[in-house]
Amino acid sequence: MDTIGTLHLILGDQLNRDSLLWQQFDPAHDVVWMAEVSEESQHPLSSKQRTVLFLSAMRHFAEQLESDGLRVIYFRLDDQITSFSEALNRSLQQLRPKQIRCVLPGDYRVQQQLQRVADQCKTPVHWLGDHHFIAKPGEFSQWLKGYKQPRMEYWYRYLRKSRQLLMDEHNKPCGGQWNFDKSNRKSFGKTGPSLLPPPVEFETDTVTQAVIADVERYLPKLPGTLDHFHWPVTRAQSLHALQDFIEHRLPLFGDYQDAMWTGQPWLYHARLSSSLNLKLLHPMEVIDAAISAWRDGHAPLNAVEGFVRQILGWREYVRGLYWHHRKQWPEMNALDADRALPPFYWDGETRMACLQQSIGQVLEYGYGHHIQRLMVTGLFALLFGVKPDQIHQWYLAMYVDAVAWVEVPNTLGMSQYADGGIVGSKPYIASGAYINRMSDYCSHCPYNPSKASGEHACPFTSLYWGFIDRHQELIAGNPRLGMQLINWQNKPEEEKVLIRQRCENIWQDPDRF
Ligand code: FAD
Ligand code: SF4
Repeated sequence: MDTIGTLHLILGDQLNRDSLLWQQFDPAHDVVWMAEVSEESQHPLSSKQRTVLFLSAMRHFAEQLESDGLRVIYFRLDDQITSFSEALNRSLQQLRPKQIRCVLPGDYRVQQQLQRVADQCKTPVHWLGDHHFIAKPGEFSQWLKGYKQPRMEYWYRYLRKSRQLLMDEHNKPCGGQWNFDKSNRKSFGKTGPSLLPPPVEFETDTVTQAVIADVERYLPKLPGTLDHFHWPVTRAQSLHALQDFIEHRLPLFGDYQDAMWTGQPWLYHARLSSSLNLKLLHPMEVIDAAISAWRDGHAPLNAVEGFVRQILGWREYVRGLYWHHRKQWPEMNALDADRALPPFYWDGETRMACLQQSIGQVLEYGYGHHIQRLMVTGLFALLFGVKPDQIHQWYLAMYVDAVAWVEVPNTLGMSQYADGGIVGSKPYIASGAYINRMSDYCSHCPYNPSKASGEHACPFTSLYWGFIDRHQELIAGNPRLGMQLINWQNKPEEEKVLIRQRCENIWQDPDRF
């Protein structure tokens, strides 16, 4: 190949044509570089669903670039290149570009890896700011300086005011409140959800079928199955998925955003996180679509505000925190959790109905909604005392939308409290009673959520008290948890002994439960 100017690296979660990369792309001299490398699916692990989603979206994107006449260097899984380092090193030796340009990766580890190879090959790298978010590069760090104890709520209000989203003509929040959480925590009651609108599913085309064949051939041991694969893999499909959500599920999103139900993985959720994280959709276009639905009278304010809060509030907030603490996350373990992840997390083989459902669904579709992640799989790991790194590796592997910048703060911070209170002000602990209130899982389970000891005691409930017992000092220091400690302290001593015994049994052989 003749001499090239700049090598533009595009990673699997950078599939947008409006990034800074394209502003200085010179089609006459520059080349796009993309790589499918087996290491990124094995260390850290990535499930079959997640791997197929990323690779299929990448191949579709590369195909589009080529049909637009651009030069693309693309390593495929069947080229059998192990790592980004190997692939990039090979291209740099062969092409000798003047420089590399790449938008800041969503994973600090990948940035370091690419930088090392470029340094070894003495090729300068220009890292470009990532504009695929609502906050501008540097804006979060600037905002953070004003707060000793930052919280998502203040960041969310700051963004709503500064971007004039859901604000009225007096610069007050529309509807007179910043949130409508009180109307948003409904369960489906005993009767369950009425007829649920099935979300749009995308049939696999020849590109996706080829990826599935490659994954089954070269990475057969990855967790999960590929019997169903219906995720959007192009921008056109992602826009279709957005429209489908706005039309059919947004109106009841708020009411039931915390509810769970047996055999119903999607309920009223958007299923847009993978398209957002791969940058097939821009968060602002998703928010605009939801606000327009409210203005047109199609969806109520509690649903729209609740949805906007997830993207404008939580998504932008955890991203800011990930980068701010990027060097500390791997070391965090504020609760000194030291147990191994129970094996049933990898195959769903457990009698606990809530975990069986939540894990089974992830193995099948690569998906779980927020409350399943936080209050079922995450809660069990927190109460059990799983090592933060092991549960983090599991979340990063299993969900199609998992990318470090969003997965790490949600798992290590919000769910496991390994950060000691950076993301949330207290550990999210609850007994089986919470799961019983928000789902029908307990009615299909051999355990009783209101029992903490004895043969039929719910393992969540036993471990909940066990957690309070172990962390009395932490809990005493948090006014929002004080009552739970008093309840533990008021229990008769013999009951405490039985609960401790039950916890011991669960710790010794979690797969038996
Ligand atoms: P909906 O429930 O319909 O919400 C709409 C959108 O809001 C989502 O698409 C997502 O972009 C955004 N959102 C909602 N909650 C959060 C949040 N807490 N943080 C960031 N964005 C949010 N989300 C990921 O995108 N990738 C992850 O790897 C990831 N890991 C998680 C791990 C744990 C332990 C927990 C508790 C949450 C995690 N989340 C993660 C957040 C959230 O669970 C998912 O974004 C959501 O379930 C995706 O499904 P959906 O598109 O149907 O979302
Ligand atoms: Fe889960 Fe306990 Fe309910 Fe069973 S009884 S579904 S283990 S919360």
